[in-house]
Amino acid sequence: MHDDYVNGDDVVVPKKRASSSSAKDDEKDDGAVALLDGFQRFRFVEDCSYEACPYRFNLSHFHCMRNDCGYAFCDKARLKQHTERHKRLDNVMGDDFEQYRPKVDCQRPDCEHARTANHFHCLKCPFICTDSSKVTAHRKHHANIEQIRANGFEKFTANTACEQKACGYSEKQTHYHCSNGDCGAVALSATQMHSHNMKHASS
Ligand SMILES: [Zn+2]
Ligand SMILES: [Zn+2]
Ligand SMILES: [Zn+2]
Ligand SMILES: [Zn+2]
Ligand SMILES: [Zn+2]
Ligand SMILES: [Zn+2]
Repeated sequence: MHDDYVNGDDVVVPKKRASSSSAKDDEKDDGAVALLDGFQRFRFVEDCSYEACPYRFNLSHFHCMRNDCGYAFCDKARLKQHTERHKRLDNVMGDDFEQYRPKVDCQRPDCEHARTANHFHCLKCPFICTDSSKVTAHRKHHANIEQIRANGFEKFTANTACEQKACGYSEKQTHYHCSNGDCGAVALSATQMHSHNMKHASS
Protein backbone atom coordinates (compact mmCIF):
# COMPACT_ATOMS: atom_id res chain seq x y z
CA MET A 1 0.00 0.00 0.00
CA HIS A 2 1.47 3.35 0.93
CA ASP A 3 4.38 1.75 2.66
CA ASP A 4 6.76 2.25 -0.21
CA TYR A 5 7.78 5.60 1.10
CA VAL A 6 9.23 4.09 4.22
CA ASN A 7 12.93 4.75 4.30
CA GLY A 8 15.37 1.92 4.59
CA ASP A 9 16.30 2.80 8.15
CA ASP A 10 12.68 2.81 9.23
CA VAL A 11 11.99 -0.76 8.33
CA VAL A 12 14.19 -2.28 10.96
CA VAL A 13 12.01 -2.63 14.01
CA PRO A 14 13.67 -4.32 16.95
CA LYS A 15 11.90 -7.48 18.00
CA LYS A 16 11.99 -6.65 21.67
CA ARG A 17 9.77 -3.77 22.66
CA ALA A 18 11.49 -1.25 24.84
CA SER A 19 8.32 0.25 26.26
CA SER A 20 5.04 -1.61 25.96
CA SER A 21 3.39 -0.33 29.10
CA SER A 22 0.56 1.63 27.44
CA ALA A 23 0.52 -0.11 24.08
CA LYS A 24 -2.69 -2.05 24.61
CA ASP A 25 -4.59 0.46 26.67
CA ASP A 26 -7.06 1.98 24.23
CA GLU A 27 -7.51 -0.37 21.36
CA LYS A 28 -11.14 -1.25 21.93
CA ASP A 29 -12.84 2.11 21.48
CA ASP A 30 -14.85 1.98 18.29
CA GLY A 31 -15.66 5.31 16.76
CA ALA A 32 -15.18 7.23 19.98
CA VAL A 33 -12.28 9.26 18.70
CA ALA A 34 -12.77 10.93 15.35
CA LEU A 35 -9.66 13.04 15.13
CA LEU A 36 -6.37 12.16 16.72
CA ASP A 37 -3.56 14.63 16.31
CA GLY A 38 -3.21 14.79 12.55
CA PHE A 39 -5.17 11.66 11.84
CA GLN A 40 -8.78 11.14 10.94
CA ARG A 41 -10.59 8.01 11.87
CA PHE A 42 -13.18 6.42 9.61
CA ARG A 43 -15.53 3.68 10.71
CA PHE A 44 -16.18 0.93 8.22
CA VAL A 45 -19.55 2.47 7.33
CA GLU A 46 -18.06 5.89 6.64
CA ASP A 47 -16.67 7.03 3.32
CA CYS A 48 -13.10 8.19 3.71
CA SER A 49 -13.25 9.41 0.07
CA TYR A 50 -9.73 8.20 -0.67
CA GLU A 51 -10.18 6.46 -3.98
CA ALA A 52 -7.17 4.22 -3.68
CA CYS A 53 -7.82 3.30 -0.07
CA PRO A 54 -7.88 -0.47 0.49
CA TYR A 55 -9.99 -0.07 3.66
CA ARG A 56 -12.73 2.15 2.25
CA PHE A 57 -16.21 0.90 3.33
CA ASN A 58 -14.41 -2.14 4.56
CA LEU A 59 -12.65 -1.69 7.88
CA SER A 60 -12.41 0.96 10.54
CA HIS A 61 -9.22 2.80 9.74
CA PHE A 62 -7.21 5.99 9.97
CA HIS A 63 -5.91 8.47 7.46
CA CYS A 64 -3.01 10.80 7.98
CA MET A 65 -4.21 14.36 7.40
CA ARG A 66 -0.85 15.98 6.81
CA ASN A 67 -0.50 17.78 3.52
CA ASP A 68 -0.53 15.31 0.70
CA CYS A 69 0.21 12.22 2.77
CA GLY A 70 -3.14 10.40 3.15
CA TYR A 71 -1.37 7.34 4.55
CA ALA A 72 -3.98 4.72 5.51
CA PHE A 73 -3.78 2.10 8.23
CA CYS A 74 -6.04 0.11 10.56
CA ASP A 75 -3.63 -0.80 13.28
CA LYS A 76 -3.53 1.95 15.84
CA ALA A 77 0.00 0.98 16.78
CA ARG A 78 1.14 2.43 13.48
CA LEU A 79 -0.22 5.85 14.41
CA LYS A 80 2.65 6.70 16.69
CA GLN A 81 5.15 5.17 14.33
CA HIS A 82 3.79 7.22 11.46
CA THR A 83 3.79 10.43 13.51
CA GLU A 84 7.42 9.82 14.41
CA ARG A 85 8.21 9.38 10.76
CA HIS A 86 6.69 12.75 9.91
CA LYS A 87 8.59 14.38 12.74
CA ARG A 88 11.80 12.98 11.41
CA LEU A 89 11.03 14.04 7.85
CA ASP A 90 9.88 17.48 8.95
CA ASN A 91 13.17 17.89 10.71
CA VAL A 92 15.04 16.98 7.61
CA MET A 93 13.28 19.50 5.41
CA GLY A 94 14.38 23.08 5.62
CA ASP A 95 14.18 25.74 2.97
CA ASP A 96 16.81 23.97 0.92
CA PHE A 97 15.09 20.66 0.22
CA GLU A 98 11.72 19.62 -1.09
CA GLN A 99 10.20 16.29 -0.32
CA TYR A 100 7.93 14.53 -2.79
CA ARG A 101 5.91 11.54 -1.79
CA PRO A 102 4.90 8.84 -4.25
CA LYS A 103 2.12 9.98 -6.56
CA VAL A 104 3.03 13.62 -6.02
CA ASP A 105 4.36 15.38 -9.07
CA CYS A 106 7.74 16.99 -8.45
CA GLN A 107 7.36 18.81 -11.78
CA ARG A 108 10.84 17.97 -12.94
CA PRO A 109 10.49 16.29 -16.30
CA ASP A 110 13.76 14.39 -16.11
CA CYS A 111 13.38 13.10 -12.56
CA GLU A 112 13.57 9.32 -12.46
CA HIS A 113 11.66 9.17 -9.18
CA ALA A 114 8.75 11.37 -10.22
CA ARG A 115 5.46 9.93 -8.97
CA THR A 116 7.05 6.59 -8.14
CA ALA A 117 9.07 6.92 -4.95
CA ASN A 118 9.38 9.14 -1.95
CA HIS A 119 12.28 11.42 -2.78
CA PHE A 120 14.01 14.69 -2.07
CA HIS A 121 15.16 17.50 -4.33
CA CYS A 122 17.92 19.89 -3.37
CA LEU A 123 16.87 23.43 -4.21
CA LYS A 124 20.43 24.62 -4.66
CA CYS A 125 21.58 22.07 -7.21
CA PRO A 126 20.20 19.14 -9.23
CA PHE A 127 20.86 16.66 -6.42
CA ILE A 128 18.13 14.04 -5.86
CA CYS A 129 17.97 11.29 -3.28
CA THR A 130 15.44 8.85 -1.89
CA ASP A 131 17.08 8.42 1.49
CA SER A 132 16.49 11.13 4.09
CA SER A 133 19.87 10.49 5.68
CA LYS A 134 21.52 11.61 2.46
CA VAL A 135 19.73 14.95 2.78
CA THR A 136 21.74 15.69 5.90
CA ALA A 137 24.99 14.68 4.22
CA HIS A 138 24.20 16.77 1.17
CA ARG A 139 23.33 19.75 3.32
CA LYS A 140 26.80 19.53 4.86
CA HIS A 141 28.26 19.47 1.39
CA HIS A 142 26.60 22.81 0.59
CA ALA A 143 27.58 24.27 3.96
CA ASN A 144 31.14 23.26 3.16
CA ILE A 145 31.06 24.95 -0.24
CA GLU A 146 29.59 28.10 1.25
CA GLN A 147 32.23 28.13 3.95
CA ILE A 148 34.95 27.92 1.30
CA ARG A 149 33.27 30.64 -0.73
CA ALA A 150 33.15 32.85 2.33
CA ASN A 151 36.90 32.33 2.58
CA GLY A 152 37.31 33.65 -0.95
CA PHE A 153 37.93 30.32 -2.62
CA GLU A 154 36.07 28.10 -5.05
CA LYS A 155 36.12 24.36 -4.58
CA PHE A 156 36.81 21.93 -7.43
CA THR A 157 36.51 18.19 -6.99
CA ALA A 158 38.31 15.52 -8.99
CA ASN A 159 35.24 15.35 -11.22
CA THR A 160 35.12 19.00 -12.19
CA ALA A 161 37.39 20.96 -14.49
CA CYS A 162 38.54 24.18 -12.87
CA GLU A 163 39.33 25.85 -16.21
CA GLN A 164 42.36 27.54 -14.76
CA LYS A 165 45.17 27.59 -17.26
CA ALA A 166 48.15 25.49 -16.27
CA CYS A 167 46.48 24.06 -13.18
CA GLY A 168 47.96 20.64 -12.54
CA TYR A 169 45.09 19.58 -10.29
CA SER A 170 42.19 20.03 -12.67
CA GLU A 171 40.08 16.86 -12.83
CA LYS A 172 42.69 15.08 -10.72
CA GLN A 173 42.01 15.95 -7.11
CA THR A 174 39.99 18.23 -4.90
CA HIS A 175 41.51 21.69 -4.81
CA TYR A 176 40.58 25.31 -4.37
CA HIS A 177 41.17 28.44 -6.39
CA CYS A 178 41.31 31.92 -4.97
CA SER A 179 38.47 34.00 -6.38
CA ASN A 180 39.98 37.32 -5.35
CA GLY A 181 40.08 39.37 -8.55
CA ASP A 182 42.01 37.40 -11.14
CA CYS A 183 44.36 35.84 -8.59
CA GLY A 184 43.34 32.21 -9.14
CA ALA A 185 46.02 30.91 -6.78
CA VAL A 186 45.62 27.26 -5.91
CA ALA A 187 45.23 25.78 -2.43
CA LEU A 188 44.89 22.18 -1.35
CA SER A 189 43.84 22.64 2.25
CA ALA A 190 42.13 25.03 4.62
CA THR A 191 45.53 25.95 6.01
CA GLN A 192 46.80 26.93 2.58
CA MET A 193 43.65 28.96 1.94
CA HIS A 194 44.14 30.74 5.21
CA SER A 195 47.77 31.61 4.65
CA HIS A 196 46.97 32.75 1.12
CA ASN A 197 44.26 35.04 2.47
CA MET A 198 46.83 36.56 4.81
CA LYS A 199 48.79 37.65 1.77
CA HIS A 200 45.76 39.38 0.28
CA ALA A 201 45.01 41.03 3.59
CA SER A 202 48.52 42.45 3.93
CA SER A 203 48.87 43.71 0.38
ZN1 LIG B 1 -9.65 5.16 3.65
ZN1 LIG C 1 1.40 10.94 7.04
ZN1 LIG D 1 11.54 14.32 -8.54
ZN1 LIG E 1 22.49 20.48 -3.57
ZN1 LIG F 1 42.58 24.05 -10.72
ZN1 LIG G 1 44.45 35.00 -4.12
